[in-house]
Amino acid sequence: MLGNYSGAVAITIGVLAVQGDVREHLRTLGSLGADVLAVRRPTELAVCDALVLPGGESTTMWKLARSFDLLEPLRDRVKTGMPTFGTCAGMIMLADRIADGVEGQETIGGLDITVRRNAFGRQVDSFETDLQVRGVEGSVHAVFIRAPWVEEAGPEVEVLARIDEGPASGHAVAVRQGAVLATSFHPEVGEDGRLHQMFVDMATGRR
Ligand code: GLN
Repeated sequence: MLGNYSGAVAITIGVLAVQGDVREHLRTLGSLGADVLAVRRPTELAVCDALVLPGGESTTMWKLARSFDLLEPLRDRVKTGMPTFGTCAGMIMLADRIADGVEGQETIGGLDITVRRNAFGRQVDSFETDLQVRGVEGSVHAVFIRAPWVEEAGPEVEVLARIDEGPASGHAVAVRQGAVLATSFHPEVGEDGRLHQMFVDMATGRR
């Protein structure tokens, strides 16, 4: 499915590249016609129109973002409206509040949610399921790897998808608040670019 989208988009989308599945996001975004950039420095962040925070390990991402002097610039950009898409650990980085974080764990914030880390872990570590996602036609095959879920969301947060079966049924796993999009699962894994397309559309003002 990748590469079937029409036209280049005149924006630069960065992927925070301190840890996690950076390459997969760069590849998917590139296939949709965006200029892509791996972001490790504040100067690189400064030239991005939009940003993806990849899946990986949020505690490591937090510590590295801090030691690369990226945490404050990231907070500034998200707060001032830069379109931002976080997947899995990236969703945790965007949450205003964490449940089951490690001692002192900080986030970038921007999403008025409480996210629960490793939320599915008690039942099952990693799994795949088909989800209905608001704004995407048909179902989305979602890959969950030690994933968080959205425990609680403020009134500005739109829930785009929930788990609809099993013990975790009812928990939100895709949300949007203004220019910020986040999923508990990994749309960067596999060949389905529709969630990234949704983000590109958000970033170019088409959604
Ligand atoms: N459990 C991880 C964390 O807390 C997230 C897992 C993932 O991104 N696949 O950051």
